[in-house]
Amino acid sequence: MKNVLVAGGGLGGTIVANRIAQKLSNEIENGEASVTVFDKSDMHFYQPGFLLVSMGAMEPQDTQIMERSVLDRRVKFLSGDSGSITKIDADNRSLTTADGKSHGYDQLVLSTGSHLQFDEIPGFAAGADTFFNLEKAKEMWQKVRSFEGGKIVVDTAMMPHKCPVAPLEITLMLDDYFRKKGIRDKVQIDYCYPVPGVFGIPNVNKMMTKIFAERGINVHSQFALASVDTSARKITSKEGESVDYDLLVSIPPHKGAQVIGDSGLGDRRNWVSTDKFTLLVKGHDDIHAMGDTTDIAISKAGSTADYESYVVSHNVAAEVAGTGGMKTYPGSVFCFIATGMDQATYIKFDYSHPPVPPTPSQVYWWSKLAYNKLYWSLHARTMI
Ligand SMILES: Cc1cc2nc3c(=O)[nH]c(=O)nc-3n(C[C@H](O)[C@H](O)[C@H](O)COP(=O)(O)OP(=O)(O)OC[C@H]3O[C@@H](n4cnc5c(N)ncnc54)[C@H](O)[C@@H]3O)c2cc1C
Repeated sequence: MKNVLVAGGGLGGTIVANRIAQKLSNEIENGEASVTVFDKSDMHFYQPGFLLVSMGAMEPQDTQIMERSVLDRRVKFLSGDSGSITKIDADNRSLTTADGKSHGYDQLVLSTGSHLQFDEIPGFAAGADTFFNLEKAKEMWQKVRSFEGGKIVVDTAMMPHKCPVAPLEITLMLDDYFRKKGIRDKVQIDYCYPVPGVFGIPNVNKMMTKIFAERGINVHSQFALASVDTSARKITSKEGESVDYDLLVSIPPHKGAQVIGDSGLGDRRNWVSTDKFTLLVKGHDDIHAMGDTTDIAISKAGSTADYESYVVSHNVAAEVAGTGGMKTYPGSVFCFIATGMDQATYIKFDYSHPPVPPTPSQVYWWSKLAYNKLYWSLHARTMI
């Protein structure tokens, strides 16, 4: 029996486990292979929905579902203490869970994601609102809907973070929301960004800089967040600039999962050193990494994890079935970018082809919403 273990049953882990089970269906039926997903939680969250929740455009309950219900029936699932991984022992090809059990593997997939660090910057936890988890997104919507005027600051604390386009999206959605409410003239919007410009990719930066100027959004860049002063209601950057706020909407610092660092598989921020083509963890031919947990210089996005899942599932199944033939990942990414409450554009790119975002339109906005709806029924279950 060959054991395939998938560490983390979020977006990437779920999709890759389903694809591996489909490819190894004969081996699983014959008792020659098994696929097991481990997650701390038995709930699957669709994080892209949190952006819409924070602006009142999606119901919170529509962003979550029981993980078991989206997993292929052939995939085993362990959660709670049985699924919470405390250590990965690469030398002995095993991992340990919080219930003290040890699980051996032949092939391991790391998909433990990226994690918000609220305590890394002084004052951040007390002063910043965010839409990067469900509870905070719900709280943020209550503040946005009752905001009658003043200064909103959208701040990105540091790079990298998941969904790189999210700061652009929330800024333009806030702008449009207050325009439609008829009080945009009473709301000042400032955008603080830790690298030069408003976005890291030149074509997107050019388009968004123009839109920001047209919409009257003030840009503070380069602005790497150093502290939040909750009593004076101001944030200060490492560059020495200060910006006042009434409502601070922030993208928190991110790190890879603690277990990655504890197992000696990550860098100082727990990102896994990963070959950008094979998606193998460097120095290991039986450990694959995908999604947010890798140190690959590419968007930490659900679409990245989805594209990577084709490569990882093929390579894992080929190893287990002994069919050989490795696939490689060309760096594919696709992201919609909301540019208001009813319009969007998108970016599609890979390692060799930079994105060329089309003019924003309502068609792309409705496509974004349709994709969200299809996620549970078709996408997570890998039926498309
Ligand atoms: C507000 C917001 C908007 C976004 N919008 C978009 C978008 O429009 N398009 C897009 O493509 N992407 C978007 N994303 C990004 C996308 O959600 C992530 O990139 C994606 O979820 C990454 O998948 P993953 O499997 O790597 O990590 P996750 O989906 O985060 O899953 C990681 C899993 O690992 C588990 N885990 C961690 N440590 C352990 C452990 N020790 N033991 C067991 N389990 C563990 C966690 O519980 C979790 O379930 C958005 C994200 C946010 C927050």
